[in-house]
Amino acid sequence: MNPCPCGYFGSRQRACRCSPEQVQRYRLRLSGPLLDRIDLHIPMQTINSDELQNAPIGDSSQLIRERVIAAQKRQLLRQQKLNANLSNTELDEILANKLVASAASLELLAKAMSQLKFSARAYHRILKLALSIADLSDAQTLEANHISEALSYRGLDRDSQ
Ligand SMILES: [Zn+2]
Repeated sequence: MNPCPCGYFGSRQRACRCSPEQVQRYRLRLSGPLLDRIDLHIPMQTINSDELQNAPIGDSSQLIRERVIAAQKRQLLRQQKLNANLSNTELDEILANKLVASAASLELLAKAMSQLKFSARAYHRILKLALSIADLSDAQTLEANHISEALSYRGLDRDSQ
């Protein structure tokens, strides 16, 4: 989606012509319950051809694919289904007994919840995202850095409050 009606809010290339009220009204059209069902909110900058040509070469798709398959295997072994299909109760059970959430990770999430006014649904969405991040790095416990990475993918929750 565009960040605002004119499309340039937060852009490095052009100034946004919208008033703060217009930006807010535009974002409120995406309701909280709908946003809560979208896993990743990532702000993207438009890039010019120079930047495109000089972009660093990241991991190959093949390598990323292998990493994702390994993470899915871990999930199936642990809970017989993928993280995406876990109920909130099942998720809580896993973080209490299997891939245990560290005290620091839960503290960080609690702090973010109260400061950023996340909904209850967003709470489990963030935990599930953090669990997948932990699985991708083959972590044995859920740590604060997994939570902070998950929080960084929920930018619109914050803005829309
Ligand atoms: Zn604008």
